[in-house]
Amino acid sequence: MPARLEIDLDRLRANLATVRRTVAPADTLFVVKNNAYGHGLEVVAETAAAAGLTWFGSFDIDSGIRVRRAVGPQGRVFAWTTALDDESVVRAADADLDLGVGDRQYLERVIGVDRALRVHLKVDTGLRRNGVRPEHWRAFVERAAQAEASGHIRVVGLWTHIAETSDADDDDARALFVAAVETARAAGLAPRVRHLAASAAAFARPEFRDDLVRVGAFAYGIRSTGGPDLPGIGPVATLTAQVVDVTGGRATVDVGSLDGLPSALGGRVVVGTDAGPRKLVSVGVATSLIATYPDARVGDRVRVFGPGTHGEHSATTLAETIDTVGEELLVRLRPGLPRIYRGPVTPR
Ligand SMILES: *Cc1c(COP(=O)(O)O)cnc(C)c1O
Repeated sequence: MPARLEIDLDRLRANLATVRRTVAPADTLFVVKNNAYGHGLEVVAETAAAAGLTWFGSFDIDSGIRVRRAVGPQGRVFAWTTALDDESVVRAADADLDLGVGDRQYLERVIGVDRALRVHLKVDTGLRRNGVRPEHWRAFVERAAQAEASGHIRVVGLWTHIAETSDADDDDARALFVAAVETARAAGLAPRVRHLAASAAAFARPEFRDDLVRVGAFAYGIRSTGGPDLPGIGPVATLTAQVVDVTGGRATVDVGSLDGLPSALGGRVVVGTDAGPRKLVSVGVATSLIATYPDARVGDRVRVFGPGTHGEHSATTLAETIDTVGEELLVRLRPGLPRIYRGPVTPR
């Protein structure tokens, strides 16, 4: 068996249960953008829905439609990037998606489509990526309230995205968000859900949970860079490769930079083997070299990252050695790399 990503659905379920328990009574929106952080969108979404998750977050409308097909008619699917054409908005309506709307032009597009879509209005509280600036927020929510009153949209949510890199910056962002919620209420809107926190703030800052938290990383067992391991949370994915040659104290394994493994990892980390951790000597294009061990044989499997059962590091620990984040190692993996699922999609 060539290199593959092994995905433990029981671990995913356990992580989701930990997330839900931690943030309750807030609800959990499970983020499945980037092909479910490289884990494979359909199986992951279906597994989470069978485990009782009711909110899903996809980046764009097309993947939101894939989520809808995977989870069925129940549940809510939130797609938050700006669609640039009316046709996409109509398809979002057909799939019964909730749309994130963070600019005026997009609001007009959604109003203009002859369907009363559910929308979550986004205020920019400092990230300056997307979202309506506070100085334009009043006019924006007044326009949305008018469109809601005439039956063109349904405003069901208010939201923002925060950096989660400093408590002080997050506090400032939250103060802007609280003010924006007040302004929206004064304009006549009564949205059911407010949401701003992703994984880190959802766990560390109870006051940021509001009605709903949008959790990606922690559900996959990807901890924050520099952050602690969390009880009840562990890596869902293990990247394994096969030994294809053993020569002169080195074993060659069949995974390389073409599979998405960063070559910068060579010489800096260990991988897990049947004999415990061994140095990853170098990462080539299609294969990599590891320091061998006494009984290394062609056909053995090594674990490049995973939960640590064989001495391997987590994806986040590998990422830290090359100054990136854990999800980067997963989302960069070649889409064609086989994904193998362990455990039933429907809980036992
Ligand atoms: C990616 C993303 C999240 C999830 O962030 P994690 O840190 O992975 O939990 C939440 N909200 C938005 C808007 C995102 O883009």
